[in-house]
Amino acid sequence: LNNTVEQFTESIFSTMTKMAMENKAINLSQGFPDFDGPSWVSDLAVKALKEAKNQYAPSMGVLSLREAIAHNYARFYNYQVNPLSEVVVTNGATEAIFCACLALLNPGDEVVVLEPFYDSYLASIKLSGAKAIPVTLKAPDFHFDIEELKAAISDKTKLLIVNNPHNPTGKVFTAEEIKIIGDLAKKHDFYLLSDEVYEFLTFDVAHKPTATYEDLKERTITISSTGKTFGLTGWKIGWAIGPAALIKAIHNVHQFSTFCVAHPLQVAMAEALMKMDEYLVDFRADYKKKKELLVTGLKELGFNVLSPKGTYFAMALLPEGENDIDYCKKLIVEKKVATIPTSAFYIKSDEGSRMIRFCFAKKDETLLGALENLKH
Ligand code: GLN
Repeated sequence: LNNTVEQFTESIFSTMTKMAMENKAINLSQGFPDFDGPSWVSDLAVKALKEAKNQYAPSMGVLSLREAIAHNYARFYNYQVNPLSEVVVTNGATEAIFCACLALLNPGDEVVVLEPFYDSYLASIKLSGAKAIPVTLKAPDFHFDIEELKAAISDKTKLLIVNNPHNPTGKVFTAEEIKIIGDLAKKHDFYLLSDEVYEFLTFDVAHKPTATYEDLKERTITISSTGKTFGLTGWKIGWAIGPAALIKAIHNVHQFSTFCVAHPLQVAMAEALMKMDEYLVDFRADYKKKKELLVTGLKELGFNVLSPKGTYFAMALLPEGENDIDYCKKLIVEKKVATIPTSAFYIKSDEGSRMIRFCFAKKDETLLGALENLKH
């Protein structure tokens, strides 16, 4: 076996969902909704299937989808992207991250990652032969120490990965923080990969793509997907956008990893993206209510919850002396509620062992059921 692959273990999201099922626990662990995505979007997919859009799609992505993606960046963020050369459609954000790492990194390169971070980053970096250099975001507000960030940068730094809004902390980076990161990228000439899959899930703060900050477009790859936004995580429609030369390189990897993305789903998503405004209003309002339901409920039960500004996750700081893995096990077995131990998101600091993550992309009755279980 490949030496790197041999080090990989089962993703924490699979492990916890499996444990939730084995223990018949309410699953607030893996991030996916327990309700279906909008039926008007599924109907569009049925229509595309019937229209026989069932052969290979263009490798870069169906043109109408690339145009819809570009159209949305223009109208939501005043960010102009050329759909012909600056967008590639991938199998979810996960494949975009993987292809971007393989396309940009050489063995020996270094990638600065802000921990806690989504588990696929490390695997993608390692499979590229590069090395992850972690900088720890410090609880409870998950700020980074500027000196620590500067110290993590070397002449081998090729890339920095920022996830905004941030899983698992629910942090939304401030403009000042992104400017600091951007200035360092310009000064030391490295690329930025900005994972923005939760772009539409912010509460009372606006999302601003990293690429729209001054002079960052030319060195930023923006990654997003429709899994969170439409509650259709199983569709796996994502993309990378960025300068044409970088997108060409990312597409070269995509071409030989999967070649293309499910054709009828792309056709449907192209139409859905053009018609999403009304849906977005309800989507945001619903998630805000769910956040409040869970956060308030957990607080009332005595949890030290760190209220999120974005994403569909909330972290809780555990009481002194508790450890995340044991605590999660106890919650699953004794309280029948599954969560995520956050140490899985860290490679340097042991801060993660002091926290657990709850997902609130769940029906109200599921959230209420979990709160009820935790009460006893
Ligand atoms: N991103 C989701 C989470 O954080 C999980 C995705 C996955 O299961 N790979 O829970």
